[in-house]
Amino acid sequence: MKKIFVISVLFLIAGCIPQANRITQTSTIDALLAGAYDGQFECGKLLNYGDFGIGTFDKLDGEMVILDGKIYQVKSDGIVYRPSLELKTPFASVCKFSPDINFELSNVNFENATCVMDKKVSNPNQYFAVKITGKFKRMKVRSVPAQTKPYPPLVEVAKTQPVFEANDVTGTIVGFRTPAFAKGLNVTGYHFHFLSKHLTMAGHILDFELTEGKCQIDKCNELLLILPQDDSLKDIDLSKDKSLELQKVEK
Ligand SMILES: [Zn+2]
Repeated sequence: MKKIFVISVLFLIAGCIPQANRITQTSTIDALLAGAYDGQFECGKLLNYGDFGIGTFDKLDGEMVILDGKIYQVKSDGIVYRPSLELKTPFASVCKFSPDINFELSNVNFENATCVMDKKVSNPNQYFAVKITGKFKRMKVRSVPAQTKPYPPLVEVAKTQPVFEANDVTGTIVGFRTPAFAKGLNVTGYHFHFLSKHLTMAGHILDFELTEGKCQIDKCNELLLILPQDDSLKDIDLSKDKSLELQKVEK
């Protein structure tokens, strides 16, 4: 008992216990859209803020999935890698996943699934994390290739993004629903990444058809935004509405 107390105090001092119901994100989606791809925050440090999340990597080198405290990097070759914990991210969102709502889902596509979730969480201004584990009749994902300077905007990168499709794949969807009021900070609505059970397929989800699975929702009411400590966002105009650009990038 005493030992547990001491360990807890040490963790509290180090600020290393992820807070329940808190989403922590680094940088903003509008900065990423503008080409702010230089990594700012070590991936390993993300795990101090949660065990579940999505994002990208330094130079936009692939899609990030964090599941059960493990970080996966889906590069543009479609292969799932385990990155070094020192590798930095320019943009990521994490939480300590502890579901509040659990239900079965069957025979739904991306759009149907989001309608069901919208009904389960009737508050449109509620942030939540989503985990769907199951069998997918069809899964369509994309990744993004590492970029070189001068970085093109994300909408240009997305024009040549490699897309991967698979039938009859088992795996987990990891993602978030962000309310409309957070426009500019993150992808509003649903943003999902996928990781197959045997790590053979993964990426940013464009569409899916779920045969059957379990959906878990973790409602979150705190947002911690960590911006770069240096002046790396200094020369980016973040005053304009980038919603249309974002729509093109997400599809
Ligand atoms: Zn994504």
